[in-house]
Amino acid sequence: MKTQAAYQIRRSPRAKRARIIVTADKIEVVAPLRMPEKQIKLFMQEKQLWVENAKNQVAEHAANITSFAPKSYQQGAMIPYQANQYPLLIELTKSSQLRIEFNQENFTLYIAKPLYSTLSAAELSEKVRELVITWMFQAAREQAIKSLDHYAPLYQLKPRSITIKAVKSRWGSCGIHNDINLNWLLILAPAEVYEYVVIHELCHIQQRNHSAAFWALVAQHCPDYKQRRAWLKQQGASLMLGL
Ligand SMILES: [Zn+2]
Repeated sequence: MKTQAAYQIRRSPRAKRARIIVTADKIEVVAPLRMPEKQIKLFMQEKQLWVENAKNQVAEHAANITSFAPKSYQQGAMIPYQANQYPLLIELTKSSQLRIEFNQENFTLYIAKPLYSTLSAAELSEKVRELVITWMFQAAREQAIKSLDHYAPLYQLKPRSITIKAVKSRWGSCGIHNDINLNWLLILAPAEVYEYVVIHELCHIQQRNHSAAFWALVAQHCPDYKQRRAWLKQQGASLMLGL
């Protein structure tokens, strides 16, 4: 007999009977408060096949999520930016300053010839990746400020600060002192999707929940927010894989 997969038990006062949640990193059984452990164990044994199936499905789904990032950051690699892809050009220079520029058609890496010749392809790729990420953080910040400058007066709401962050699980947040945090990866999404997240967090200054009143406020200046949010639902997992 196959050994049973490890699982965690979560007690819930709302659970009328046991149910199983399978995610990429864990198997959880949500059980009523008074259900004996022995009974939970039995339930899990009965559901063993179901759990195996669910685990396979989750794994298959995860394998189908493709990152926006190029396989390697080399000449001609396609760099994602605001829902487009731009080729990376590498130009050798005399200046020792390593920098990256964007001209609406491509990204160009300027690198000194001596440095270029000492780096392996993998080292160069990693260096470029770091530079691209730094560039994207800056671009994400500029884009957020642009949106805020436009929408803050319309809503008559003003955040105390704005910070671009690398976070794994969320697109934005608004703290109790109205400090807005935004996920840098939003700069890879369509501009209107990023704009929606800025509006969303801005509206939390007035409504600290996701009530009907909150969504009505979002819709005031972003009537098509549902479509924008749908993009994040569909592409979010890919986006979260980063660069
Ligand atoms: Zn929210």
